[in-house]
Amino acid sequence: MDLNDTPEQAAYREQVRAWLEEHKSEAPVLEGPDALPEDQVVDAHRAWQRKLAEAGLAGATWPKEYGGQGFGPIEQVIISQEIARARVPGILDVIGVGMLGPTIIAHGSEDQKSRYLGPMLHGDEVWCQLFSEPAAGSDLAGIQTRAKQEDGGWRLTGQKVWTTNAQFSAYGLILARTDADVPKHKGLTMFVLPMDAEGVTVRGLRQITGDAEFNEVFLDDVKLDDDMVVGQVGNGWGTALTTLMFERVTIGFGSEGLGYRPQRFAEAIAGDEAAVRDGDVRQRLGHITTELLAVRFTSYRMLSALQQGQIPGPEAGLSKITTVNASIAACDLVADALGPDALREDTDSQLSYHTSFLPGLKSAGGTEEILRNTIGERVLGLPPEPRLDKGIPFSELRAKEKEAAAR
Ligand SMILES: Cc1cc2nc3c(=O)[nH]c(=O)nc-3n(C[C@H](O)[C@H](O)[C@H](O)COP(=O)(O)OP(=O)(O)OC[C@H]3O[C@@H](n4cnc5c(N)ncnc54)[C@H](O)[C@@H]3O)c2cc1C
Repeated sequence: MDLNDTPEQAAYREQVRAWLEEHKSEAPVLEGPDALPEDQVVDAHRAWQRKLAEAGLAGATWPKEYGGQGFGPIEQVIISQEIARARVPGILDVIGVGMLGPTIIAHGSEDQKSRYLGPMLHGDEVWCQLFSEPAAGSDLAGIQTRAKQEDGGWRLTGQKVWTTNAQFSAYGLILARTDADVPKHKGLTMFVLPMDAEGVTVRGLRQITGDAEFNEVFLDDVKLDDDMVVGQVGNGWGTALTTLMFERVTIGFGSEGLGYRPQRFAEAIAGDEAAVRDGDVRQRLGHITTELLAVRFTSYRMLSALQQGQIPGPEAGLSKITTVNASIAACDLVADALGPDALREDTDSQLSYHTSFLPGLKSAGGTEEILRNTIGERVLGLPPEPRLDKGIPFSELRAKEKEAAAR
């Protein structure tokens, strides 16, 4: 593919760059010594998302009728690249605008689209993704949160975990089991959950980074009306797959999308003369840079597929594994080269944060082992994992598992 901008793309890039140049002083400072205090971050970031949305720089790939620009993925990448270049934050609600909004666009009713999408895009209502549970992460279809039908509605009981942004979300998309007497993928339904509904309790989990980005969410007999079902009752797995596909694309743009650029690590070392002269340091940095550059070009391949209307394949998984491992190696390298100075909190390199955040990213959006399994099966054509759950009703699975373990 031609990696240069077409004249139209170059003109669009200029337009985005000019807007950011004019407005970047209004962006919240989230990193470094001048960072906003924690209690002001959400409101300031929300206000910034509103400005980006009004300028057409949030949800640019959403259809125009729902507030987007109807652009293809290349314009979205141009926006992300220019935001990174201007060194300002992107939107606050990456999960809502990047993954849950597109799910509602694909599966929601017209009422749901007109009620929820506008406030989501403008950051007025932030959304969270309530999929994972204490005993169902990689095996997402094994969730145990139950939704029981009653007159004109549903009652939800169960627990979710690792729910990013639940502490300030207005709504969530929640996956629940509505029928335990069919195989596990078939008895699921997706709902909109108002986070202030009676019976919803959010409890924060503080990470080793010091931040508390994600939460446990407890659901105690929460009442939901019928119009909160997204897609069809019993088709929650199909709806969830749409979210997961957008999640893969959001994460899969690799080092660029996540901000792990090779220059960032090279700059951290460049100021230390002894480290720059050290052949071992230079070799390690060269290796890491090669990996991250390979991710960049893989993501261009993915972009090219998306632009042609194809669904990206396992490249997204490969990009994610490579980005996370190369970035962990880069943080280790900077720490080896600079010693404790690498982790000083008062620098704007954010290395301390990344060093402690990256191990978690190994799990987020699909663990390395699960992605490697997918790549093994779908790319290399290796035999699939043995499965005990095919065709067996969810309610009988535990007994079958016990039976198999006893054999
Ligand atoms: C930063 C972060 C943010 C997150 N945000 C959200 C969110 O907003 N909403 C949400 O719903 N979830 C969220 N998650 C949860 C995330 O989706 C899960 O962590 C992920 O799906 C893995 O599930 P688990 O943690 O239960 O691990 P498990 O599935 O229990 O896996 C534990 C270990 O066993 C391995 N393993 C499991 N099955 C297999 C297998 N078949 N073969 C080989 N190895 C296997 C895994 O690779 C892993 O190493 C977030 C996680 C993180 C770290």
